[in-house]
Amino acid sequence: MKIVFATNNQHKVREASEILGPGFELVTPAELGITEDIPETGNTFRANSQQKADFIYKHTGLSCFADDSGLEVEILGGAPGIETARYSGPARDSKANIEKLLREMSRREAEASLARSLGLSTPHATRKARFRTCVTLIIDGEHHFFDGIMEGRISREPYGKGGFGYDPVFIPEGYDVTAAQLPEEEKNAISHRGKAMRAMAEFLAKDSRSSRE
Ligand code: IMP
Repeated sequence: MKIVFATNNQHKVREASEILGPGFELVTPAELGITEDIPETGNTFRANSQQKADFIYKHTGLSCFADDSGLEVEILGGAPGIETARYSGPARDSKANIEKLLREMSRREAEASLARSLGLSTPHATRKARFRTCVTLIIDGEHHFFDGIMEGRISREPYGKGGFGYDPVFIPEGYDVTAAQLPEEEKNAISHRGKAMRAMAEFLAKDSRSSRE
């Protein structure tokens, strides 16, 4: 079955192909001649993934899916959230994003420590964080949503050369190394995106329509 994945990120296409298996031929917008930026102006991961999937469906009429992910950090009240990619500015620079994240967390920790020293009640400063993904699948014009979460915490400095984005500062729950220090297959097996994609793959495998060409 041919299905469009609304991304031009080859790393994601490879990961999704492995998860969906040989019964699915993944096509990217660029391969269909769609070169314009896909709009992403929603306030939630779900709204953004739906917006991207709707855009592709409107332009192609083909079954398609889109994902939207981000990082939620407890001490930052859930930020950067939907701003994750552009946290430090429109350049989507991972190094600058990580620097801003560590800086903001240190600032909040210092504020909490000062408040405590003044005897004020303040929420416990934690480094807990989670990655979240929402995938929107459109098949025969119907929308289906799949979520995935990876819990963890933010390290005090970056470690590791693998992965992408915030991986060098994200320590998945149950590990004592960052996601950038894990082999790619191991990270994909526990990642938010992997979980959401596997949920979609299970749905497609059960859905009788998935046997169509
Ligand atoms: P996207 O919606 O998948 O493009 O993700 C938005 C941003 O979240 C990316 O630009 C990355 O900065 C960050 N991000 C998403 N998934 C991951 C991950 O698995 N590791 C590290 N950073 C991620």
